[in-house]
Amino acid sequence: MSRRVRRTKDGVRHAVVLRDGVEGFVVRGTTHCSGCTELGDYGGGSEYYDFDMKAQCLVGTGCDECGYTGKRRQTYWAPFAVFE
Ligand SMILES: [Zn+2]
Repeated sequence: MSRRVRRTKDGVRHAVVLRDGVEGFVVRGTTHCSGCTELGDYGGGSEYYDFDMKAQCLVGTGCDECGYTGKRRQTYWAPFAVFE
């Protein structure tokens, strides 16, 4: 299998990952841990938690799920179509 690279509209290159015949790519990011961050339906309550400027996410109080970091690493697949 050859490794292809495609650019999104903003010019960032991503390795192409096929899923059900659709070209997409894997996005990595850090997000708050839902296990120890209790936010309201509309994001209310965020003022009770620290905000990590580097990771651009809230930091929870820490729990077993996130190893007491309050943050979780996240990877997900997104189709190129969304960014074009
Ligand atoms: Zn947690």
